[in-house]
Amino acid sequence: MALEQTLAIIKPDAIKNKHIGHIIEKIEAKGFAIQQAFMLQLAQEEAAEFYHIHADKPFFNDLTTFMSSAPLMIMILEKENAIAEWRTLMGATNPSEAEAGTIRAEYANSIDENAVHGSDSVETAFEEITFFFDADEALDFEETPESDTAASE
Ligand code: ADP
Ligand code: MG
Repeated sequence: MALEQTLAIIKPDAIKNKHIGHIIEKIEAKGFAIQQAFMLQLAQEEAAEFYHIHADKPFFNDLTTFMSSAPLMIMILEKENAIAEWRTLMGATNPSEAEAGTIRAEYANSIDENAVHGSDSVETAFEEITFFFDADEALDFEETPESDTAASE
């Protein structure tokens, strides 16, 4: 298992319902390091860019309206196997299918307003982290191959 970073977002419903503290408590209890965190409200066009892979879905307009409706809390989480582990802690996309104890089971009310976001692969984690953070803020995310470094010296 590799030390990974993933992008986590606390969505507007969870922020309005005052669950930031509950969610961060679960994140820390599972041993994630919160590497970076800030709050930001996206314009709808920015939410559309972030969720571009869902542009063809019937729920796209509702999703981008919701995600730009209020500030988000945006975090980089770091842990061994962070990408899969954060998705496990989030629970299933539809909270009615989320396992007991997961964030979505406890704090989400519906599939469209489901409390948290998490990257789903190494590629999307990199794309999503650099959507919100400068490359030099995304600490140690890209491995520097030592052979390349040696060759350039
Ligand atoms: P996840 O957030 O679990 O990675 P997806 O990437 O499939 O889920 O979808 C992105 C977001 O779009 C979901 O978190 C949810 O807010 C919304 N969404 C997904 N599927 C639906 C759906 N069938 N109806 C309404 N909203 C949906
Ligand atoms: Mg997704």
